[in-house]
Amino acid sequence: MSTEFEGKTALVTGGSSGIGLAVARRLARAGAAVVIAGRDGDNARKAAADITAEGGRALGVSADVSDADQVARAVDTAVDVFGALHLAVNNAGIAGPRGLTGEFPPAEFHRVISTNLIGVFHSLHHTLPAIVAAGGGAVVNMASVLGVRGFAGSPAYTTAKHGIIGLTKTAALEYAPLGVRVNAVGPGFVETPLLKDFDADARAYVTSLHPAGRFGTPEEVAELTAFLLSDKASFMQGGYYAVDGGYAAA
Ligand code: NAD
Repeated sequence: MSTEFEGKTALVTGGSSGIGLAVARRLARAGAAVVIAGRDGDNARKAAADITAEGGRALGVSADVSDADQVARAVDTAVDVFGALHLAVNNAGIAGPRGLTGEFPPAEFHRVISTNLIGVFHSLHHTLPAIVAAGGGAVVNMASVLGVRGFAGSPAYTTAKHGIIGLTKTAALEYAPLGVRVNAVGPGFVETPLLKDFDADARAYVTSLHPAGRFGTPEEVAELTAFLLSDKASFMQGGYYAVDGGYAAA
């Protein structure tokens, strides 16, 4: 345990599994009170209970990020329970189906954008004023290497992730004078439940896109995220930071 985030409260959307859970654990181990907001409230409460059992402070709440009101309630709960909100990790996301743009179901395009891009807007919309009210803080938006690269068969996902980077730059320009740093993290492919539908051929192909020759771990993404949220990153504002095993260097 360290005390780097002692006295800070963090909201992590999609914090019940994968990268979000690793981030929530990493922040709690460094002293933050963590509010895990998940689409499935039981999973969020279970993740929070696990972190509490490990000696951290955490609360699980039910919130679908595609619904602005639910995000507002999660932020209100964080402020009511822990007194203020200083940090936000806008991480909730889905993979969506695969399909060529000409064949991709429009309803699925809307569904992926609603969670992966509009969900990040909802999270920024409600967390930024709360963080300003707390006297300042920092935000990380979970983008992807597919925010800076196309990927055949994933039109909605790549659109959402590119959009997150634009939203990050704009929010950073707006909120830097108010004491909030906003940055985006771009993971390469990471071993999480998000990739559960990848078969052996898809895994081999995707692995070949990473010069490191492997997928990343949620903990590797959590480490960069924690750094960007910390005071060590005090001059880092509006950036996109890759943690992708070299994928985007090609
Ligand atoms: P994951 O499936 O383990 O975690 C995603 C979490 O988001 C889950 O807990 C899920 O319940 C939650 N969620 C989904 N839709 C939601 C909604 N509408 N409202 C609230 N919560 C919702 O997957 P992960 O890999 O940990 O993904 C986390 C983030 O990292 C996503 O934004 C994803 O796009 C991004 N990412 C993942 C990879 C990867 O290869 N795994 C690579 C780059 C970026």
